[in-house]
Amino acid sequence: MRVVVVGGGFGGLQAVRSLEGAPVELTLIDRQNYHLFQPLVYQVATGALSPAEIASPLRGILKRQKNVHVLLAEVSAFDLERRFVYVNELPNGENGVAIPYDVLIVSAGSRYSYFGHDEWQARAPELKSLEGAVDIRARILTAFEAAEVERDETRRKAWLTFVVVGAGPTGVEIAGQIAELARDTLPNDFRSMDPRSARVLLVETADRVLTTFPASLSKKAEAALEKLGVTTLLGHTVVDVGPELVLMQTSDGDKENVPARTVIWAAGVTASGLAAELARAAGTELDRAGRVTVGPQLTLPGHAEVFAIGDMVRVSDEGGAIVPLPGLAPVAMQQGRFVARVLRDRLQGKEGRSFRYVDKGNLATIGRSKAVADIKGLRLTGFLAWMTWLLVHLVYLVGLQNRLLVLVRWTFSFITHGRGARLITGRARSTG
Ligand SMILES: Cc1cc2nc3c(=O)[nH]c(=O)nc-3n(C[C@H](O)[C@H](O)[C@H](O)COP(=O)(O)OP(=O)(O)OC[C@H]3O[C@@H](n4cnc5c(N)ncnc54)[C@H](O)[C@@H]3O)c2cc1C
Repeated sequence: MRVVVVGGGFGGLQAVRSLEGAPVELTLIDRQNYHLFQPLVYQVATGALSPAEIASPLRGILKRQKNVHVLLAEVSAFDLERRFVYVNELPNGENGVAIPYDVLIVSAGSRYSYFGHDEWQARAPELKSLEGAVDIRARILTAFEAAEVERDETRRKAWLTFVVVGAGPTGVEIAGQIAELARDTLPNDFRSMDPRSARVLLVETADRVLTTFPASLSKKAEAALEKLGVTTLLGHTVVDVGPELVLMQTSDGDKENVPARTVIWAAGVTASGLAAELARAAGTELDRAGRVTVGPQLTLPGHAEVFAIGDMVRVSDEGGAIVPLPGLAPVAMQQGRFVARVLRDRLQGKEGRSFRYVDKGNLATIGRSKAVADIKGLRLTGFLAWMTWLLVHLVYLVGLQNRLLVLVRWTFSFITHGRGARLITGRARSTG
Protein backbone atom coordinates (compact mmCIF):
# COMPACT_ATOMS: atom_id res chain seq x y z
CA MET A 1 0.00 0.00 0.00
CA ARG A 2 1.43 3.40 -1.02
CA VAL A 3 0.84 6.02 1.67
CA VAL A 4 1.71 9.62 0.82
CA VAL A 5 2.02 12.03 3.77
CA VAL A 6 2.06 15.77 3.06
CA GLY A 7 3.73 17.82 5.81
CA GLY A 8 6.49 16.81 8.23
CA GLY A 9 5.18 19.01 11.06
CA PHE A 10 3.57 17.78 14.25
CA GLY A 11 0.73 15.79 12.68
CA GLY A 12 2.46 14.37 9.59
CA LEU A 13 5.61 13.31 11.40
CA GLN A 14 3.63 11.48 14.09
CA ALA A 15 1.65 9.62 11.43
CA VAL A 16 4.86 8.56 9.67
CA ARG A 17 6.62 7.50 12.85
CA SER A 18 3.59 5.58 14.08
CA LEU A 19 3.62 3.56 10.86
CA GLU A 20 7.16 2.29 11.47
CA GLY A 21 7.29 -1.41 10.67
CA ALA A 22 3.81 -1.39 9.07
CA PRO A 23 3.58 -3.14 5.67
CA VAL A 24 3.17 0.16 3.80
CA GLU A 25 5.40 2.18 1.47
CA LEU A 26 5.50 5.73 2.87
CA THR A 27 6.45 8.95 1.06
CA LEU A 28 6.73 12.05 3.24
CA ILE A 29 6.59 15.28 1.23
CA ASP A 30 7.54 18.62 2.78
CA ARG A 31 8.63 21.92 1.25
CA GLN A 32 11.16 22.23 4.09
CA ASN A 33 13.84 19.65 4.75
CA TYR A 34 13.28 19.94 8.51
CA HIS A 35 10.68 19.50 11.22
CA LEU A 36 10.16 22.79 13.04
CA PHE A 37 9.29 22.96 16.73
CA GLN A 38 7.02 26.02 16.42
CA PRO A 39 6.40 26.50 20.16
CA LEU A 40 10.00 27.74 20.54
CA VAL A 41 10.18 29.89 17.41
CA TYR A 42 9.75 33.05 19.50
CA GLN A 43 12.95 32.19 21.40
CA VAL A 44 14.86 32.32 18.10
CA ALA A 45 13.23 35.70 17.37
CA THR A 46 14.58 37.09 20.64
CA GLY A 47 18.08 35.62 20.46
CA ALA A 48 17.61 33.02 23.21
CA LEU A 49 18.03 30.01 20.91
CA SER A 50 19.61 29.40 17.51
CA PRO A 51 17.52 28.18 14.54
CA ALA A 52 19.17 24.75 14.39
CA GLU A 53 18.31 24.09 18.03
CA ILE A 54 14.56 24.02 17.34
CA ALA A 55 14.61 22.32 13.94
CA SER A 56 15.67 18.80 12.93
CA PRO A 57 16.32 17.50 9.41
CA LEU A 58 13.51 15.12 8.40
CA ARG A 59 15.95 12.71 6.75
CA GLY A 60 17.93 12.54 10.00
CA ILE A 61 14.82 11.89 12.12
CA LEU A 62 13.68 9.11 9.78
CA LYS A 63 17.02 7.59 8.75
CA ARG A 64 16.33 4.29 10.57
CA GLN A 65 12.74 3.96 9.41
CA LYS A 66 13.18 1.85 6.30
CA ASN A 67 9.59 2.07 4.98
CA VAL A 68 9.74 5.85 4.37
CA HIS A 69 11.08 7.99 1.53
CA VAL A 70 11.46 11.73 2.13
CA LEU A 71 10.76 14.13 -0.72
CA LEU A 72 11.65 17.83 -0.61
CA ALA A 73 8.92 19.48 -2.68
CA GLU A 74 5.94 21.80 -2.46
CA VAL A 75 2.55 20.19 -3.02
CA SER A 76 0.31 22.30 -5.25
CA ALA A 77 -2.81 20.22 -5.92
CA PHE A 78 -4.59 16.88 -5.58
CA ASP A 79 -6.50 14.67 -7.98
CA LEU A 80 -8.69 12.67 -5.61
CA GLU A 81 -10.39 10.69 -8.39
CA ARG A 82 -7.20 9.40 -10.03
CA ARG A 83 -5.34 9.47 -6.68
CA PHE A 84 -2.41 11.74 -7.46
CA VAL A 85 -0.58 14.43 -5.49
CA TYR A 86 0.98 17.15 -7.66
CA VAL A 87 4.20 18.87 -6.64
CA ASN A 88 5.49 22.13 -8.10
CA GLU A 89 9.12 21.38 -8.65
CA LEU A 90 11.59 18.72 -7.57
CA PRO A 91 15.04 19.75 -6.28
CA ASN A 92 16.57 18.79 -9.66
CA GLY A 93 14.31 21.28 -11.46
CA GLU A 94 11.80 18.73 -12.77
CA ASN A 95 8.35 20.31 -12.95
CA GLY A 96 4.73 19.28 -12.51
CA VAL A 97 5.40 15.80 -11.09
CA ALA A 98 2.42 13.60 -10.11
CA ILE A 99 2.88 11.18 -7.23
CA PRO A 100 0.42 8.27 -6.98
CA TYR A 101 -1.07 7.09 -3.69
CA ASP A 102 -3.43 4.50 -2.27
CA VAL A 103 -3.83 6.43 0.98
CA LEU A 104 -3.21 10.16 1.42
CA ILE A 105 -2.57 11.94 4.74
CA VAL A 106 -2.40 15.75 4.61
CA SER A 107 -1.14 17.80 7.58
CA ALA A 108 -0.02 21.11 6.06
CA GLY A 109 -0.70 23.33 9.10
CA SER A 110 -1.77 26.97 9.12
CA ARG A 111 -0.44 30.50 8.73
CA TYR A 112 -1.23 33.86 10.28
CA SER A 113 -4.12 35.84 8.90
CA TYR A 114 -3.80 39.59 8.34
CA PHE A 115 -7.60 39.92 8.22
CA GLY A 116 -7.60 40.89 4.55
CA HIS A 117 -4.59 43.23 4.89
CA ASP A 118 -1.77 41.11 3.49
CA GLU A 119 0.08 44.34 2.65
CA TRP A 120 0.82 44.71 6.39
CA GLN A 121 2.97 41.59 6.35
CA ALA A 122 6.07 43.42 5.07
CA ARG A 123 5.85 45.85 8.03
CA ALA A 124 4.59 43.40 10.61
CA PRO A 125 6.18 39.98 9.98
CA GLU A 126 4.60 36.90 11.50
CA LEU A 127 6.22 34.48 13.85
CA LYS A 128 5.58 31.15 12.22
CA SER A 129 8.57 30.05 10.21
CA LEU A 130 12.28 29.93 10.95
CA GLU A 131 12.84 32.61 8.27
CA GLY A 132 10.22 34.80 9.98
CA ALA A 133 11.91 34.35 13.35
CA VAL A 134 15.35 35.26 11.98
CA ASP A 135 13.83 38.31 10.25
CA ILE A 136 12.11 39.44 13.47
CA ARG A 137 15.32 38.89 15.44
CA ALA A 138 17.16 41.12 12.96
CA ARG A 139 14.47 43.82 13.22
CA ILE A 140 14.43 43.83 17.03
CA LEU A 141 18.22 43.96 17.36
CA THR A 142 18.56 46.52 14.55
CA ALA A 143 16.02 48.74 16.32
CA PHE A 144 18.26 48.86 19.40
CA GLU A 145 21.28 49.61 17.17
CA ALA A 146 19.33 52.43 15.49
CA ALA A 147 18.27 53.89 18.86
CA GLU A 148 21.91 53.91 19.96
CA VAL A 149 22.89 56.27 17.11
CA GLU A 150 19.65 58.26 16.84
CA ARG A 151 20.01 61.83 18.17
CA ASP A 152 16.42 62.93 17.73
CA GLU A 153 14.49 61.98 20.89
CA THR A 154 11.14 61.41 19.15
CA ARG A 155 12.68 59.17 16.52
CA ARG A 156 14.66 57.30 19.16
CA LYS A 157 11.43 56.62 21.06
CA ALA A 158 9.89 55.17 17.89
CA TRP A 159 12.90 52.85 17.47
CA LEU A 160 12.45 51.74 21.05
CA THR A 161 8.72 51.03 20.73
CA PHE A 162 7.82 47.42 19.96
CA VAL A 163 4.23 46.58 19.10
CA VAL A 164 3.07 42.96 19.35
CA VAL A 165 -0.34 42.35 17.76
CA GLY A 166 -2.40 39.59 19.40
CA ALA A 167 -2.26 38.43 23.03
CA GLY A 168 -2.62 34.68 22.54
CA PRO A 169 0.21 32.46 23.88
CA THR A 170 2.60 33.49 21.07
CA GLY A 171 1.98 37.23 21.51
CA VAL A 172 2.31 37.01 25.28
CA GLU A 173 5.52 34.98 24.98
CA ILE A 174 7.23 37.27 22.48
CA ALA A 175 6.17 40.45 24.31
CA GLY A 176 7.57 39.07 27.57
CA GLN A 177 10.81 38.06 25.86
CA ILE A 178 11.36 41.48 24.24
CA ALA A 179 10.81 43.15 27.62
CA GLU A 180 13.33 40.78 29.23
CA LEU A 181 15.80 41.35 26.41
CA ALA A 182 15.56 45.12 26.97
CA ARG A 183 15.64 45.08 30.75
CA ASP A 184 17.73 42.03 31.57
CA THR A 185 20.11 41.26 28.74
CA LEU A 186 20.97 44.47 26.90
CA PRO A 187 21.44 47.26 29.49
CA ASN A 188 25.23 46.88 29.64
CA ASP A 189 25.63 46.46 25.88
CA PHE A 190 24.88 50.06 24.87
CA ARG A 191 26.51 53.39 25.72
CA SER A 192 24.33 56.23 24.33
CA MET A 193 20.86 55.03 25.25
CA ASP A 194 19.28 52.90 27.92
CA PRO A 195 17.58 49.78 26.47
CA ARG A 196 15.42 49.69 29.62
CA SER A 197 13.52 52.69 28.26
CA ALA A 198 12.07 50.47 25.50
CA ARG A 199 8.26 50.24 25.42
CA VAL A 200 6.62 46.92 24.59
CA LEU A 201 2.94 47.27 23.68
CA LEU A 202 0.81 44.13 23.52
CA VAL A 203 -2.34 44.92 21.53
CA GLU A 204 -5.45 42.75 21.87
CA THR A 205 -9.00 43.26 20.61
CA ALA A 206 -10.52 41.08 23.36
CA ASP A 207 -10.88 42.29 26.94
CA ARG A 208 -8.21 39.92 28.30
CA VAL A 209 -4.99 38.19 27.29
CA LEU A 210 -4.83 34.41 26.73
CA THR A 211 -8.53 34.02 26.00
CA THR A 212 -8.23 30.21 25.75
CA PHE A 213 -7.22 30.09 29.44
CA PRO A 214 -9.49 30.57 32.49
CA ALA A 215 -10.05 34.28 33.28
CA SER A 216 -8.17 34.01 36.60
CA LEU A 217 -5.00 32.91 34.76
CA SER A 218 -5.42 35.75 32.23
CA LYS A 219 -5.39 38.20 35.15
CA LYS A 220 -2.24 36.59 36.57
CA ALA A 221 -0.57 36.72 33.16
CA GLU A 222 -1.47 40.42 32.76
CA ALA A 223 0.04 41.21 36.16
CA ALA A 224 3.21 39.27 35.30
CA LEU A 225 3.51 41.07 31.96
CA GLU A 226 3.12 44.46 33.64
CA LYS A 227 5.85 43.55 36.12
CA LEU A 228 8.13 42.73 33.20
CA GLY A 229 7.43 46.15 31.66
CA VAL A 230 4.91 45.14 28.98
CA THR A 231 1.98 47.54 28.45
CA THR A 232 -1.13 45.54 27.63
CA LEU A 233 -3.63 47.41 25.45
CA LEU A 234 -6.87 45.44 25.75
CA GLY A 235 -9.94 46.34 23.67
CA HIS A 236 -7.56 47.80 21.04
CA THR A 237 -7.51 46.76 17.41
CA VAL A 238 -4.74 47.53 14.94
CA VAL A 239 -6.39 49.15 11.90
CA ASP A 240 -3.31 50.21 9.94
CA VAL A 241 0.41 49.50 9.93
CA GLY A 242 2.66 52.11 8.33
CA PRO A 243 6.46 52.31 8.08
CA GLU A 244 6.75 54.40 11.24
CA LEU A 245 3.26 54.40 12.75
CA VAL A 246 0.69 51.91 13.98
CA LEU A 247 -2.92 53.06 13.99
CA MET A 248 -5.10 51.56 16.70
CA GLN A 249 -8.79 51.81 17.42
CA THR A 250 -10.32 51.31 20.86
CA SER A 251 -13.63 49.54 21.46
CA ASP A 252 -15.20 53.03 21.88
CA GLY A 253 -14.13 53.90 18.34
CA ASP A 254 -11.32 56.32 19.34
CA LYS A 255 -8.26 56.16 17.12
CA GLU A 256 -4.64 56.57 18.20
CA ASN A 257 -1.42 56.71 16.18
CA VAL A 258 1.57 55.13 17.89
CA PRO A 259 5.03 55.84 16.46
CA ALA A 260 6.75 52.43 16.34
CA ARG A 261 9.38 50.98 14.04
CA THR A 262 9.00 47.32 14.99
CA VAL A 263 5.68 45.51 14.74
CA ILE A 264 5.25 41.75 15.21
CA TRP A 265 2.13 39.93 14.09
CA ALA A 266 0.73 37.15 16.29
CA ALA A 267 -3.01 37.49 15.66
CA GLY A 268 -5.47 35.08 14.04
CA VAL A 269 -4.59 32.00 12.02
CA THR A 270 -5.91 30.63 8.78
CA ALA A 271 -5.47 27.11 7.44
CA SER A 272 -2.89 26.16 4.80
CA GLY A 273 -4.03 26.76 1.22
CA LEU A 274 -3.98 22.97 0.78
CA ALA A 275 -7.21 22.81 2.84
CA ALA A 276 -8.88 24.77 0.03
CA GLU A 277 -7.32 22.41 -2.56
CA LEU A 278 -8.74 19.39 -0.74
CA ALA A 279 -12.15 21.02 -0.32
CA ARG A 280 -12.23 21.87 -4.02
CA ALA A 281 -11.21 18.37 -5.05
CA ALA A 282 -13.77 16.77 -2.70
CA GLY A 283 -16.53 19.29 -3.42
CA THR A 284 -16.87 20.38 0.22
CA GLU A 285 -16.77 23.81 1.89
CA LEU A 286 -14.26 25.59 4.11
CA ASP A 287 -15.08 27.27 7.43
CA ARG A 288 -14.22 30.91 8.17
CA ALA A 289 -10.71 29.93 9.28
CA GLY A 290 -10.12 28.23 5.91
CA ARG A 291 -10.28 24.73 7.43
CA VAL A 292 -11.69 21.70 5.64
CA THR A 293 -14.15 19.52 7.58
CA VAL A 294 -13.28 15.86 8.14
CA GLY A 295 -15.40 13.10 9.67
CA PRO A 296 -14.86 11.19 12.94
CA GLN A 297 -12.16 9.03 11.30
CA LEU A 298 -10.45 12.23 10.06
CA THR A 299 -11.25 11.39 6.43
CA LEU A 300 -12.69 13.66 3.75
CA PRO A 301 -16.40 13.13 2.98
CA GLY A 302 -16.70 10.47 0.26
CA HIS A 303 -12.97 9.66 0.41
CA ALA A 304 -12.17 7.08 3.10
CA GLU A 305 -8.61 6.91 1.67
CA VAL A 306 -7.88 10.64 2.26
CA PHE A 307 -7.07 11.79 5.79
CA ALA A 308 -6.53 15.44 6.76
CA ILE A 309 -5.31 16.37 10.24
CA GLY A 310 -3.88 19.13 12.42
CA ASP A 311 -4.36 22.89 12.15
CA MET A 312 -5.92 22.73 8.67
CA VAL A 313 -9.04 20.77 9.66
CA ARG A 314 -12.10 20.85 11.84
CA VAL A 315 -13.57 17.56 12.93
CA SER A 316 -17.21 16.53 12.89
CA ASP A 317 -18.59 13.74 15.07
CA GLU A 318 -20.80 10.81 14.04
CA GLY A 319 -23.89 13.08 14.11
CA GLY A 320 -22.21 15.75 11.94
CA ALA A 321 -21.70 18.24 14.82
CA ILE A 322 -18.36 20.09 14.91
CA VAL A 323 -16.08 19.01 17.77
CA PRO A 324 -14.30 22.13 19.10
CA LEU A 325 -10.54 21.48 19.16
CA PRO A 326 -7.73 23.97 19.83
CA GLY A 327 -5.03 24.65 17.21
CA LEU A 328 -2.32 22.99 19.27
CA ALA A 329 0.53 20.57 18.65
CA PRO A 330 -0.94 17.78 20.87
CA VAL A 331 -4.13 17.77 18.75
CA ALA A 332 -2.13 17.31 15.53
CA MET A 333 0.12 14.67 17.14
CA GLN A 334 -2.78 12.66 18.54
CA GLN A 335 -4.49 12.84 15.15
CA GLY A 336 -1.30 11.62 13.44
CA ARG A 337 -1.12 8.63 15.78
CA PHE A 338 -4.86 8.00 15.33
CA VAL A 339 -4.61 7.86 11.54
CA ALA A 340 -1.75 5.37 11.79
CA ARG A 341 -3.89 3.17 14.07
CA VAL A 342 -6.84 3.36 11.64
CA LEU A 343 -4.55 2.27 8.79
CA ARG A 344 -3.12 -0.62 10.79
CA ASP A 345 -6.68 -1.65 11.69
CA ARG A 346 -7.72 -1.54 8.06
CA LEU A 347 -4.77 -3.71 7.07
CA GLN A 348 -6.13 -6.29 9.52
CA GLY A 349 -9.65 -5.92 8.14
CA LYS A 350 -10.93 -3.98 11.18
CA GLU A 351 -13.01 -0.78 10.96
CA GLY A 352 -14.85 1.68 13.10
CA ARG A 353 -12.73 3.85 15.42
CA SER A 354 -13.56 7.55 15.96
CA PHE A 355 -11.04 10.22 16.97
CA ARG A 356 -11.20 11.46 20.58
CA TYR A 357 -8.87 14.22 21.76
CA VAL A 358 -7.28 13.74 25.17
CA ASP A 359 -6.73 17.24 26.57
CA LYS A 360 -3.61 17.21 28.75
CA GLY A 361 -3.70 20.93 29.50
CA ASN A 362 -2.69 24.37 28.34
CA LEU A 363 0.60 26.17 29.05
CA ALA A 364 2.02 29.62 28.29
CA THR A 365 5.24 31.19 29.50
CA ILE A 366 5.60 34.92 30.11
CA GLY A 367 9.23 35.24 31.10
CA ARG A 368 11.89 34.08 33.51
CA SER A 369 10.17 32.04 36.28
CA LYS A 370 6.78 33.27 35.05
CA ALA A 371 4.18 31.11 33.33
CA VAL A 372 0.57 29.98 33.58
CA ALA A 373 -0.72 26.42 33.28
CA ASP A 374 -4.19 24.92 33.23
CA ILE A 375 -3.82 21.16 33.57
CA LYS A 376 -7.16 19.40 33.78
CA GLY A 377 -8.53 22.12 36.06
CA LEU A 378 -5.32 22.42 38.11
CA ARG A 379 -4.23 26.05 37.74
CA LEU A 380 -0.55 26.78 38.22
CA THR A 381 1.29 30.10 38.03
CA GLY A 382 4.83 31.41 38.67
CA PHE A 383 7.88 29.20 39.09
CA LEU A 384 6.00 25.88 39.24
CA ALA A 385 4.14 26.61 36.00
CA TRP A 386 7.40 27.77 34.42
CA MET A 387 9.24 24.54 35.38
CA THR A 388 6.31 22.52 33.98
CA TRP A 389 6.53 24.53 30.75
CA LEU A 390 10.31 23.96 30.49
CA LEU A 391 10.00 20.21 31.08
CA VAL A 392 7.12 19.72 28.62
CA HIS A 393 8.96 21.60 25.89
CA LEU A 394 12.18 19.70 26.46
CA VAL A 395 10.35 16.36 26.33
CA TYR A 396 8.52 17.20 23.10
CA LEU A 397 11.46 18.80 21.28
CA VAL A 398 12.58 16.39 18.55
CA GLY A 399 16.09 14.90 18.86
CA LEU A 400 18.30 14.19 21.86
CA GLN A 401 20.99 16.60 20.66
CA ASN A 402 18.56 19.52 20.50
CA ARG A 403 17.13 18.67 23.92
CA LEU A 404 20.61 18.76 25.44
CA LEU A 405 21.61 21.94 23.59
CA VAL A 406 18.43 23.78 24.62
CA LEU A 407 18.81 22.62 28.23
CA VAL A 408 22.38 23.97 28.32
CA ARG A 409 21.30 27.27 26.69
CA TRP A 410 18.42 27.76 29.13
CA THR A 411 20.59 26.93 32.15
CA PHE A 412 23.27 29.34 30.96
CA SER A 413 20.72 32.11 30.27
CA PHE A 414 19.09 31.57 33.66
CA ILE A 415 22.41 32.05 35.44
CA THR A 416 23.87 34.87 33.32
CA HIS A 417 20.67 36.61 32.04
CA GLY A 418 22.37 36.37 28.62
CA ARG A 419 21.11 35.43 25.18
CA GLY A 420 23.84 33.86 23.09
CA ALA A 421 22.10 34.04 19.71
CA ARG A 422 21.74 37.84 19.41
CA LEU A 423 22.86 37.90 15.79
CA ILE A 424 21.63 40.18 13.04
CA THR A 425 21.53 37.88 10.04
CA GLY A 426 19.12 37.31 7.17
CA ARG A 427 16.91 40.21 6.20
CA ALA A 428 17.76 43.06 8.58
CA ARG A 429 14.97 45.34 7.42
CA SER A 430 14.00 47.14 10.59
CA THR A 431 12.31 49.89 8.66
CA GLY A 432 10.22 47.33 6.75
C1 LIG B 1 4.76 30.68 17.09
C2 LIG B 1 3.91 29.50 17.44
C3 LIG B 1 3.91 29.03 18.74
C4 LIG B 1 3.14 27.91 19.07
N1 LIG B 1 3.20 27.47 20.35
C5 LIG B 1 2.52 26.34 20.69
C6 LIG B 1 2.63 25.80 22.00
O1 LIG B 1 3.30 26.37 22.87
N2 LIG B 1 1.97 24.65 22.28
C7 LIG B 1 1.23 24.00 21.32
O2 LIG B 1 0.68 22.94 21.61
N3 LIG B 1 1.09 24.49 20.08
C8 LIG B 1 1.72 25.64 19.74
N4 LIG B 1 1.60 26.15 18.48
C9 LIG B 1 0.69 25.49 17.51
C10 LIG B 1 1.32 24.25 16.90
O3 LIG B 1 2.61 24.56 16.43
C11 LIG B 1 0.42 23.76 15.77
O4 LIG B 1 -0.84 23.46 16.29
C12 LIG B 1 1.01 22.52 15.09
O5 LIG B 1 2.24 22.85 14.47
C13 LIG B 1 0.04 21.94 14.06
O6 LIG B 1 0.63 20.82 13.44
P1 LIG B 1 0.36 20.52 11.91
O7 LIG B 1 0.95 19.20 11.61
O8 LIG B 1 -1.07 20.76 11.62
O9 LIG B 1 1.14 21.67 11.14
P2 LIG B 1 2.74 22.11 11.16
O10 LIG B 1 3.35 21.55 12.38
O11 LIG B 1 2.68 23.53 10.95
O12 LIG B 1 3.28 21.32 9.92
C14 LIG B 1 2.92 21.63 8.61
C15 LIG B 1 4.02 21.13 7.68
O13 LIG B 1 3.52 21.12 6.36
C16 LIG B 1 4.49 21.63 5.49
N5 LIG B 1 3.77 22.19 4.34
C17 LIG B 1 2.85 23.18 4.34
N6 LIG B 1 2.39 23.40 3.11
C18 LIG B 1 3.04 22.54 2.29
C19 LIG B 1 3.01 22.27 0.90
N7 LIG B 1 2.22 22.95 0.07
N8 LIG B 1 3.82 21.33 0.40
C20 LIG B 1 4.66 20.62 1.21
N9 LIG B 1 4.72 20.83 2.53
C21 LIG B 1 3.92 21.77 3.07
C22 LIG B 1 5.22 22.67 6.30
O14 LIG B 1 6.51 22.93 5.78
C23 LIG B 1 5.25 22.01 7.68
O15 LIG B 1 6.41 21.24 7.85
C24 LIG B 1 2.35 27.27 18.10
C25 LIG B 1 2.35 27.75 16.80
C26 LIG B 1 3.12 28.85 16.47
C27 LIG B 1 3.11 29.36 15.06
